[in-house]
Amino acid sequence: MPELPEVETIRQGLNQQLSNSHLCSIVRLDNYCWHDETSNFSLAADYKLSEFERQGKYLFAHLKSDTSAEDITLIFHLRMTGKLIITSTVTNLPKHSHFYFELKKDHKILYLYFNDVRRFGYVKLLPRQNLSFDQSLKKLGFDALTHKLTLNEKALTEKEAENAFIQGCRRHLHKNIKSALLDQSIIAGLGNIYADELLFSARIHPANLCCDLSEKNLQILYRSILPLLNKAISNHGTSFSDYVDSRGIKGNFQNYLQVYQRTSLPCYSCKTPIKKCKIAGRSTHFCPKCQIYYGSNTLT
Ligand SMILES: [Zn+2]
Repeated sequence: MPELPEVETIRQGLNQQLSNSHLCSIVRLDNYCWHDETSNFSLAADYKLSEFERQGKYLFAHLKSDTSAEDITLIFHLRMTGKLIITSTVTNLPKHSHFYFELKKDHKILYLYFNDVRRFGYVKLLPRQNLSFDQSLKKLGFDALTHKLTLNEKALTEKEAENAFIQGCRRHLHKNIKSALLDQSIIAGLGNIYADELLFSARIHPANLCCDLSEKNLQILYRSILPLLNKAISNHGTSFSDYVDSRGIKGNFQNYLQVYQRTSLPCYSCKTPIKKCKIAGRSTHFCPKCQIYYGSNTLT
């Protein structure tokens, strides 16, 4: 948490309110994990916050210099509890707010603050031209929503993305399909909630190994991704406890989940109680009747 639909909802909100704003200052409130790769970044230079982009669960803020200084990018990873919220005042920021930006847009001052209770998130500031060399970004597979491979490359076509997904699963034959969906190097953006929901919508049991799934199974699974993500984004993401968008408002998609966090409740399709087990070290929710296991090992 947050996963692709939540980060995308945040990105859209930030772009709506802050794109093309002027960055006046960055105020660090504590020693929060901040990786700074730029030696010459100075707020003496004029920076414009041009736009926010997203790749998988990473969010990027591109800062454009009005002078000769190089353009820079801030990379955010929100991990468990990271939040980016726009506000008109920084008096009484909530506890665990680690830094904020002061921005000017249309003669109005706005603040964007970063709050992270569990402190697993991070921020990295680096020259924009170094973005494609970043070790964690280089490992990312194509984005589940846009089909882009990296920020600078052209997006894959729908068919190319489907093939890349199937080949990615084929490279990990002895991995279970739940782990394959969570593997950001195969497809970027999915986490525990949407992996469980996808497997339910494709009627595939999460414990299936990739080698036990046919081309058709993987195709059905892949083709379930976009409809699910689009529905989640149009409902502003899923909020269980922490996630809120850039206005501090909770998402609505938790009301549409079929299996996630529905342990022991009746399946919406067949009324069988939803089961919960641990797969890939993660809580996994599924319908034991609707979701088919194709493997030969006995399931415990
Ligand atoms: Zn069912």
